[in-house]
Amino acid sequence: MTLTPERALEQAALAGIHRLRIPTPFAVGRVNCYLIEDEPLTLVDTGPNSGKALDELQSQLGARGHSIDDLELVIVTHQHIDHLGLVEIIVEHSGAEVAAIGVAAERLANFDEDAEAEDRFAVDLMIRNGIPEEVTVALRSVSRSFRAWGSQVTVTKPLADGEKMAFRDRTLQAIHRPGHSPSDTVFWDERRRILIAADHLIAHISSNPLISRALDGSEQRPQALVTYIASMEKTREMPAEIVLSGHGEPVTDHVALIDDRIAKHERRKEKIYKLIAEQPRSGYEIAQAIWGNVAVTQAFLTLSEVIGHADLLINEGRVREVEDGQVVRFLAVD
Ligand SMILES: [Zn+2]
Repeated sequence: MTLTPERALEQAALAGIHRLRIPTPFAVGRVNCYLIEDEPLTLVDTGPNSGKALDELQSQLGARGHSIDDLELVIVTHQHIDHLGLVEIIVEHSGAEVAAIGVAAERLANFDEDAEAEDRFAVDLMIRNGIPEEVTVALRSVSRSFRAWGSQVTVTKPLADGEKMAFRDRTLQAIHRPGHSPSDTVFWDERRRILIAADHLIAHISSNPLISRALDGSEQRPQALVTYIASMEKTREMPAEIVLSGHGEPVTDHVALIDDRIAKHERRKEKIYKLIAEQPRSGYEIAQAIWGNVAVTQAFLTLSEVIGHADLLINEGRVREVEDGQVVRFLAVD
């Protein structure tokens, strides 16, 4: 029998894991951070770098008898700014250690340069896939304006994939599950069957497989959706009872949710195949055929979706990329 989300939160609280809902200025709404009342006293994700988020974090910690100064460990689940923006401020106040997947440590330490490089990568990818230059310029300035909500993060406890973190009352295993972002890491309490999954799995929204530079510095364009599906398939095999997400309510039937997500990607892949089989199209042309003219801020998300599904088709040998001047088009094979 699956739990209701309310029961799941109660059960997590009994295990000393408390959801804190911190406001963000982004369309996604509030971000879930998790206070783990254990030794060390731990906060999983922090919310964005804003006064409002800091106030709410203070007051929600205060409601449980803690303050920011008491925190001993901050765990960063992934590289997105709505999850990590307050890390630096928290560390200044508390001296807390910071744990994150080791392969992302260098990126997190060089936040500004990394954000710049990420933007350049995104612009190149958009141009290559037919997105008009003025859209990329607009998107770049949006991205720059968002950067203030982020933070540079000095990881003092770099985690290996599979590493077990010992607390007084529990063990959490850090497991790298890239896809939504290259650094996505989930934290598994095997004894309690609780998985802290952040944006790897979200009940009410399908996590975007955002295309981002590879963490290992390789120049190859990462196949974010291919990676994400492989990660979901691994999570599907875990005997989790409660999955605590980075946004919204807990997931209490992760197998059904993952099956549903994978089926949706399968359907979208076939829809995109049809469009490509009709005529060769750029990523932008495919996105327009599916969603019409989307808001500028959505342009990169929808392009990531299209390319992700085209990658699945390329890997199946049904589609290939052909260069057409500056732009690449997807072409159906035979
Ligand atoms: Zn995220």
